[in-house]
Amino acid sequence: MHRERVSENVFWFQSEVYAQVTAGVVAGPQWAVVIDTLALPDETLGMREFIEHELGVPVRYVINTHYHADHAWGNCFFPSATIIAHARCRDLLAERGAPSLDNARRQNPVLRQVKIVLPHITFDSGEMTMRVGKKNLNILPAMGHSHDGIGVLVEEDRILFAGDAFMPLPYVVDGDVDEIIASIKRIGRMGLENIVQGHGDIILRGEIDAAVKENLNYLSAIKKAARLAARRRVPEELLDTIRIEDCGKSRVYLGGLAEGLHQQNLRALVNQMRASNDK
Ligand SMILES: [Zn+2]
Repeated sequence: MHRERVSENVFWFQSEVYAQVTAGVVAGPQWAVVIDTLALPDETLGMREFIEHELGVPVRYVINTHYHADHAWGNCFFPSATIIAHARCRDLLAERGAPSLDNARRQNPVLRQVKIVLPHITFDSGEMTMRVGKKNLNILPAMGHSHDGIGVLVEEDRILFAGDAFMPLPYVVDGDVDEIIASIKRIGRMGLENIVQGHGDIILRGEIDAAVKENLNYLSAIKKAARLAARRRVPEELLDTIRIEDCGKSRVYLGGLAEGLHQQNLRALVNQMRASNDK
């Protein structure tokens, strides 16, 4: 697992085994807040070890940016922490977490240590603020990758932990393309120093405008392609020809997963468009 200091008392972790998924910590003098929990127990425990022994504080709160396994299944490794999330994150984890964990355990025995822990504190509208040492954390909605997305802004440092609302390749299969477009535009206007993406590397201030533009261009390209494909009798024939590069992205993103995710995006959009035409 890769670890870096982002600013004073703010650290960032990136998985070296699963899709470059990220997590963060903001530490105060008495306790720390963890933002997301990584994908595999060893990495989550490595992050906890660093916080407890290097930073020397316990984890009092864990914020889940959304309910997906690689962000929320590590909650159980912080047994004395209070978990905070969007209200829909709690619902989705309750509904989908257990069956998909059963499934995942069959493929990966290390997940036997994992237990789904539902968020204790939730909110479903507006924002929430938390004070950690000298820093204000602003917990705000960041929808579109999923329907339960939140981001965490470290106000003093202008660092946004964006969850998967911001990724090297936007992924909308479990969300809504127009909502993620709105989230990305809002993030672009926030005047940030850093965006900590849910996957991939940190985006620095000077790179933000280009990253926002690239993501918005990608999303409008796949919308356009899906609209054309949705009119076809067999949309897949057209979708198969639309490579990720045609939409302004590179297949090397996310450790080579990008082309597969891109094709899933296209198919999901066609289904969403057909479903809304049927209404
Ligand atoms: Zn996700």
